[in-house]
Amino acid sequence: MRIITGILLFLLSASLSATDKYSRNSNIDVVQYEFTIYLSDSYDLIRGEARLRINHTGSTNSINLDLVDLGSDGKGMNVEEVRVDNKPVHWLHNNKRLEIELASVKDEGETTNILIRYYGIPADGLIISSNRYGDRTFFADNWPDRARNWIPCIDHPSDKAFVDFIVYAPEKYKVVSNGYLYEESVLPEGIKLTHWKEEISIPTKVMVIGVAKFAVQLAGEIGGTDIWTYVFPEDREAGFSDYSVAGGPFTWYSENIGPYAYEKLANVQSKTMFGGMENAGCIFYSEKSVTGEGRVERLMAHEIAHQWFGNSVTEKDWHHVWLSEGFATYFAALYQGYKDGETRLKAIMNMSRQRIISSNKIHPAPVIDTTIFEFMKLLNTNSYQKGAWVLHMLRNELGDDLFWKSIQTYYARYRNRNVLTSDLQRTIEDVSGRDMSRFFYQWLYLPGHPELKISWTYNNRRGEIKINVEQVQEGHIFEFPLVLEINDRSGTRSEQVMVKQKVQSFTIKSENTPYEIIPDPEVRLLFEDIS
Ligand SMILES: [Zn+2]
Repeated sequence: MRIITGILLFLLSASLSATDKYSRNSNIDVVQYEFTIYLSDSYDLIRGEARLRINHTGSTNSINLDLVDLGSDGKGMNVEEVRVDNKPVHWLHNNKRLEIELASVKDEGETTNILIRYYGIPADGLIISSNRYGDRTFFADNWPDRARNWIPCIDHPSDKAFVDFIVYAPEKYKVVSNGYLYEESVLPEGIKLTHWKEEISIPTKVMVIGVAKFAVQLAGEIGGTDIWTYVFPEDREAGFSDYSVAGGPFTWYSENIGPYAYEKLANVQSKTMFGGMENAGCIFYSEKSVTGEGRVERLMAHEIAHQWFGNSVTEKDWHHVWLSEGFATYFAALYQGYKDGETRLKAIMNMSRQRIISSNKIHPAPVIDTTIFEFMKLLNTNSYQKGAWVLHMLRNELGDDLFWKSIQTYYARYRNRNVLTSDLQRTIEDVSGRDMSRFFYQWLYLPGHPELKISWTYNNRRGEIKINVEQVQEGHIFEFPLVLEINDRSGTRSEQVMVKQKVQSFTIKSENTPYEIIPDPEVRLLFEDIS
């Protein structure tokens, strides 16, 4: 037993120490970005001014930012000028990095202000195109690390910061962004200045601007937070109606998880490449999401859940993205269960279990998969469905009271901060007083799930059912509670057994011969029944 524990701890620490390879500078922390962006109808070239306030957390004489430089296709950003604390400095811009030399070494506790003037046609990240009505639109789409295509930044979720977007655009456009509207002024020559201020720290993956002709409606005010709808004018009626369901999940999450983190919530019809993109306080949905048929609630429940998980509580490393996607998937499912009944939740979990089983047959991998370095590939069944299933099993093991208490404590502790999976584990252990190391290890750091061969016999003389449970999956033996529903002529009852071995037998007293024994009738265990 000690040896197994030793190996387990060794494996656990080995996978915990692996990171997503982003080249981090632990000596700096961006506190605030202010981006001034000039947009035009005549060309796709943008001009930008970035002002960064950086806190030094250690000694350094240079600062590296992410910014895509000019490529052979003529797209990318050209840097014209860099000033540090209002003085010109040397800088080098290549390989998608902007390396800025400081005039002198800065030590811990010191601050640096940087100004960068740049221009170019964004290769990605700020999508300049036209919508389904042929109107020109500008929509940022930064996830996972595409912000660097149009704004100089530390393009990694571990460095969260305040952000201001000051957009100069033709007067006919409305501009929506993170935070609250600070200024909207029409200037001479048909130009409008729009300034949005986000005073809560957010990661670059969810910093955005959306610039288009919009119809805008105040959809509601919940607990002091305004909820806005932005849709294309042609979709005004259908969009206002479709997006009006946002208040349901917003209220439910606020009441059950903790207070919403941002100044407002805008639900925006957009040109994001994703079905929905959870940008902080400014969610973008694909333009096709507006149908007028009210089919967008589940998508909205997912993106709104991200405001709590992913945006406010943010993974520190891409390999822990299940803390964002698994949570959004599960809390959206919980909301559906709350709204439409437990049967709906069971149906969702059953469907996603089928998906996990199929996906595991093709590509067995752990949820925290430290072999993935193309972050788009993290958008997989493990991050979403299996992540959700881990939370579902956690809720089953802890019970509703401890589960919700753990979630509320986790959110309160890490609101507007960064986390790793170990922070979630520690919180649950603090709240429940239980050791969760095996649970986290087997479900998150190992591939697969139990594949069970279950058989039973009834001994009439002894009045006993003997149930055999065999784990036939390759590799690890899982430990889990298994509920068995026993049906006989006296009725239906459930028994729970703890499975801990490859082959295990359980004896259950029964006066009658069962005619059917159903494993996991309530859909609470991630397993494949291959009996
Ligand atoms: Zn998501």
